Amino acid sequence: MAKIEKSEQQWREELSPDAFEVCRGKGTERAFTGLYCDTKSDGTYRCTCCGEALFRSESKYDSGTGWPSFFEPVAADVVTTERDVALGMERIEVMCTACGSHLGHVFPDGPAPSGERYCINSVSLALDEDDAS
Ligand SMILES: [Zn+2]
Repeated sequence: MAKIEKSEQQWREELSPDAFEVCRGKGTERAFTGLYCDTKSDGTYRCTCCGEALFRSESKYDSGTGWPSFFEPVAADVVTTERDVALGMERIEVMCTACGSHLGHVFPDGPAPSGERYCINSVSLALDEDDAS
């Protein structure tokens, strides 16, 4: 998979201020404010920074947390995880493998079959709806 590398300045110019803060600054959008929190449309959720396909609507579920939640990515290698001890919490950060964008965190309390909950910021994603051509 090709790695995408851009300077912070390039990202700042290409992304919205909110996306820049979350994706490149590892921020978190407020719960229940994200565009895709309640979205049920069929489609592929792509990385807002580089367009890589990350999650499918079939793996999205309502976790009640206020962030889009998925039980698995489209493929194991499209996301990269890393231990994150920021804010005094021990969590597993989820990033886009291709461009290093911060997506959210993964928790071990998801539904079957994976048992994982990928808690992802809406602003890190761009939904490519199946019906749209
Ligand atoms: Zn990306």
